[in-house]
Parts: sequence; C-alpha cells; structure tokens
Amino acid sequence: MKFKNSLQFAKKLDREDPLRSYRNKFLIPKINNKQSIYLIGNSLGLQPKTTKQFINQELEDWAKLGGEGHMHARNPWLYHHRLAKKTLAALVGAKPSEVVAMNQLTINLHLMMVSFYIPTTERYKIIAEAGAFSSDQYAFESQIKFHGLNPDKVLIELKPREEEFTLRTEDIVRTIMEHGREVAMVLLGGVQYYTGQLFDIPKITAAAHSVGAIAGFDLAHAVGNTPLNLHKDDVDFAVWCSYKYLNAGPGAIAGAYIHEKYESNTELPRFAGWWGHDEGERFNMQKGFKPMKGIDGWQVSNVPVFQNAALLASLEIFQEAGIKALRKKSIALTSYMEYILKEIDPLENTLKIITPVNPEERGCQLSIFTKQNGKKIFQQLNKAGVITDWREPNVIRVAPVPLYNTFEEIYRVGEIINSLLK
Ligand SMILES: *Cc1c(COP(=O)(O)O)cnc(C)c1O
Repeated sequence: MKFKNSLQFAKKLDREDPLRSYRNKFLIPKINNKQSIYLIGNSLGLQPKTTKQFINQELEDWAKLGGEGHMHARNPWLYHHRLAKKTLAALVGAKPSEVVAMNQLTINLHLMMVSFYIPTTERYKIIAEAGAFSSDQYAFESQIKFHGLNPDKVLIELKPREEEFTLRTEDIVRTIMEHGREVAMVLLGGVQYYTGQLFDIPKITAAAHSVGAIAGFDLAHAVGNTPLNLHKDDVDFAVWCSYKYLNAGPGAIAGAYIHEKYESNTELPRFAGWWGHDEGERFNMQKGFKPMKGIDGWQVSNVPVFQNAALLASLEIFQEAGIKALRKKSIALTSYMEYILKEIDPLENTLKIITPVNPEERGCQLSIFTKQNGKKIFQQLNKAGVITDWREPNVIRVAPVPLYNTFEEIYRVGEIINSLLK
C-alpha cells in the first residue's frame, strides 16, 4: 500500500477499515481528561465493555446459588474451562482438546518443563534466546537446577550477529544442528518481547525435531497478535498469558497447549492435581491419579471462574472479528506507523526501528531504539497523551493494536514525535 503522512489520508484508511467498529467495544483510558492514544496493548490489553457483564453473571449466580453453582450456574463452574477452548484453539491453530486456559504463564511454563524437559547424560541442553523475558530465564535456570544440573553448561543462548538486533532463522537452525543430539529442548518466544521479532515457528520446530529435541514456545506476545498453527507445525507444547493482546485483564488466567500426539501419554512426568483427574471419578476423592485425555489432564486446581469469565468476554470479540482479518489490519496499521517514523527521521538520527522490516517476521509491535534523548521522548509522549512503554537501556515499544487503535491515532503520534524531535 502507498501511504501518505496526512490526516486526511489516515482518516480515509479508518473509514475504509472493516474492523473500525471494534474500538467501541473497549474502554479507552484518559490522560488529562482526554482519551489517550493507547499503544501498550502488548503489555496490558484494554478492558472490553462486556467484561463487567461476564463477571457479574458469575457474581449473581454465586449470590443466588452458593455451592450449587458448580452444577447449576448458567455456565456451570465445574465445566467452566471448556468454554474458552474453541476460540483459543482457533487463535493458536490447534484442536480444542489441545488447549486449555489455566493458571498463569510462568506456572504453565514450569508445568510444561516438568513434563517435557527430561535431561539425560547424553541429551540435556536447552536452546533459548539470550535476553529472554526475565521470568522465562528464571524458570529455565530453576528447572535446570531442579535436575541437579549447571545452567551454564545446559543453557545455550541464541544471540544476534554483531551489529544486528534480531536473530536469523538460519543461525537458530545452525545452532540446533551444531548441538545436535545433546539438545533436549528448544524453547523460544513466538514474538520476542523486546525486539518484536516473530520467529519462524515451523522451521524452528522442524529443526528441533530433526535432532530429536522437543520444541516449545512461549506465546505471550504472539497469541491474539499473529495467526498461529501449532498443531500443523507439530509444536510439542506452548504457553501464553491472556492479559496482553487477549485483553483478559491484569493477572488474567493463562493458557497452554500440548500436541495431540501426547494426549494419551501417561508416561510423561507431571505435577498433578485433582482438576486434571478423570472428570467422572474426580469426586471419588481416591488415590491413584488418572489423567483426563490431552491438556485437560495437566490442569491442577479448579477453575478461577471470575478470571475465566473475563477471558470469555474478550474471546467473544476475537471470535467475531477473526484473527485473519485482525492480522490484515494489523499489518497495515504497523506498516503505517513504520512509514511515518521513517518520514520523520529518514536518516535514523534519533529513531531506529529494530523490529524486522518484513511484516511476516513481526507482529504489531515496533521497538524503537533511541540513539539520543530516548527517555525524554518517552516522557513527553506520555505528557501529550500517548502511552508507550520504555525498556532499558533505550527502547520505546509501541504496539498499534488492530482491535482498538486507529490510523488517525498513528498519524497523531507522528505529529507529536515530529514536534519533539524539532
Ligand atoms: C508477559 C510475559 C511473562 C509474564 O509472566 P507471568 O507469569 O504472566 O507473570 C513471562 N514471559 C514472557 C515472554 C512474557 O512476555
């Protein structure tokens, strides 16, 4: 598409946007009594107007029914986890039996590593991104120590080449091949939280499998952002949180996926709890864990119903909009942001986008490396009503979200940055 840096052009794109009405489904925070330009949906997605209703329904049923709500709430709490499956499956490209909403992200990462990281003296290495999200790094380190191993010998960190900011798929694949049969697990983000790079999940998974390793992904920044095909790509397991692009609220219930090929595998070690036990016998309260088929058998505790209700409110919107249509708008919106930033600072004197240029290699986020005055620009943006986020030492992340951001907002942000640079 040929873009123009003009208000008129941005407004035209908004008028022609088939998803423009979705913005009205969200509550937009204000700064100085004016609607903000909210560009941190990659950090905490906005609240759908319907979330209150979804949670209220559960509050009402609890008030009316007490414990009877487990069976007789409008959405019986005993089976509440089933309600999110269909839409989650569509978002990550899986079968409903392969996905479940449960726990929180880092906990799910631990649960998956318990089952899939089974080091032996020959095969024990984990390949991950250097500078992975801190929580993931702590999980890797503690899991490795849990097996009595030394993280320095086990963890192989992928680093960009000199003068580059993102990883080349060829380098990832080569590293996997180099370590070969010593690799137990390849565990990367779907979209890297700092650079916004979307990894080539099918290629990386195939490379991991070619050396006999497990391929797992942390989709915190990918789910609800880019279409995914976990089942078809033969990914072994994945985890994600739901408060970023999935708009399920602070501390929302997270998600997990395990490929169907493991659905009846009772040999895998796992940390079990009663909600993973065979539904028909759960209340016999007897010893001898008998897992439910598939990912449901990895559930531990009973469903946090209010959190799940908030997730369902948001998933209803995703189901209606469809991730393919969202992605189409997302590519246009992010490309427009990129175009405008390049218009303002063509020689990259101050602003250098480190996110890949190819839309196939990124989601909606752009990470802007600031060569000077970064913190100041970030703070001034906030004063002007534009909410972005700052990552030390000098990166401003912006995430135009197709559900609620507009082309006009992107144009306005450009105007503000332009005046700040002058
Ligand atoms: C957001 C994020 C987390 C946060 O972990 P929680 O367990 O949800 O608190 C972890 N890892 C990645 C990659 C993230 O993007």
